[in-house]
Amino acid sequence: LKSILKDPSLLATKAFVAGEWVDADDGSTFEVTNPARGDVICTVPDLGRAETARAIEAARVAMKDWAARTGKERAAVLRKWFDLMMENQDDLGAILTAEMGKPLAEAKGEIAYGAGFIEWFGEEAKRVYGETIPGHQRDKRITVIKQPIGVAASITPWNFPNAMIARKAGPALAVGCGFVCRPASETPLSALAMAVLGERAGLPKGILSVITSAKASDIGKEFCENHTVRKLTFTGSTEVGRILLRQAADQVMKCSMELGGNAPFIVFDDADLDAAVEGAMASKFRNNGQTCVCANRIYVQAGVYDAFAEKLAKAVAALKVGDGLDEGTEAGPLINEDAVEKVQEHIKDVLDRGGAVITGGERHEMGGTFFKPTVLTGVTQDAKVSTEETFGPVAPLFKFETEEEVIEKANATIFGLASYFYARDIGRITRVQEGLEYGIVGVNTGIISTEVAPFGGVKQSGLGREGSHHGIEDYLEMKYICLSV
Ligand code: ADP
Repeated sequence: LKSILKDPSLLATKAFVAGEWVDADDGSTFEVTNPARGDVICTVPDLGRAETARAIEAARVAMKDWAARTGKERAAVLRKWFDLMMENQDDLGAILTAEMGKPLAEAKGEIAYGAGFIEWFGEEAKRVYGETIPGHQRDKRITVIKQPIGVAASITPWNFPNAMIARKAGPALAVGCGFVCRPASETPLSALAMAVLGERAGLPKGILSVITSAKASDIGKEFCENHTVRKLTFTGSTEVGRILLRQAADQVMKCSMELGGNAPFIVFDDADLDAAVEGAMASKFRNNGQTCVCANRIYVQAGVYDAFAEKLAKAVAALKVGDGLDEGTEAGPLINEDAVEKVQEHIKDVLDRGGAVITGGERHEMGGTFFKPTVLTGVTQDAKVSTEETFGPVAPLFKFETEEEVIEKANATIFGLASYFYARDIGRITRVQEGLEYGIVGVNTGIISTEVAPFGGVKQSGLGREGSHHGIEDYLEMKYICLSV
């Protein structure tokens, strides 16, 4: 990997704690592998609670000066960090693809997307406005100011090794918080490369730490039990989110949770079918189906079901599967063997209930964790895909008759993150977008992620929003000041 980087120093293999590049106290390490080739890229330090506590303390100390700076001063550093990420987009993309597997074009897209959060929140640093409220008595003057909440700790998954951290680091650092992150153990290298650039951009020593560790639950406990941490921000499964919420309860810690989804993607009779196929491809097969906003259930109205299935299967069969670093690859490997097994289990379950595979359905000839992009028809509401997130390249097609019926089915899940539908009738569009119990609705589009909009879920998909001017609030406390004159 080093040999293909323009700037090999971006491939950092030590942890970044309190402004120093360090090994674990006990010298232990873990391996980072390339899921497309199965080989070991490098090892990184396997940190524990003691190093994490040091990072948290350094963040607290560094915050004093950082939070005292003007928004414009912090914005200048974040702008520089954004610029450096964009200047090094090719290298950051290659590191990301090597450790995670997504095609290089998608990885570079993720770098731009992640950097966008740093840029956006840097700009927002200047707009953390307070409020004045007319007093309740003649001598009273009421003002509300907003202040950084304190040290923020983050835990993120492997599917967006850069952007999931950038979404959290951006607002935290913009408002003046210290930030300690623990990237997924599958993908620590993208986080470390971000830290290399953050240091170059002039982030003060200790304000940002990257805890590489294979001991996720230990780090989670330190984050939740250390009294200096005032904010926990997590992206991952609903299952782990529940554990962290329980742990954080002891300190009544403010939590942001971006959890699982089970996105419905609805195609109505009046939809532009070619556009719907294009949207379904983007929504379902982006990152090889490994995102929390990927379509998990595709509902197609009876009148267009066969035509849609045929068009979608054709597009899916044409996807070029391969090593993400090879030119033209559109779908990489799955992250690991467990992911392949889950995909196989969901397919088998659909077949056992009378469904059919119309393309794909099995492992790819490339071996390893490569899987053929798949389309299933005749899927029923009792199938596992209706309640569990597949997190893989499987498009299950459900048939429905009426608008009312499909809204009810689409909402019949504990999740409420992203949803999508294709239709042209304006009355229907209005009714359906209002009826879907989801934090995000894509209407006639399969791509909804942007730093300028509030991303987040309802129900068991999460708490809080990331992105947009709303996203900064999660890192702020408000203080009401009552002055008697
Ligand atoms: P995914 O299936 O996307 O990896 P998880 O929720 O299992 O979703 O993991 C998301 C992140 O949370 C990963 O970085 C993982 O290492 C971490 N994690 C898993 N279990 C715990 C835990 N008990 N405490 C803290 N972090 C955890």
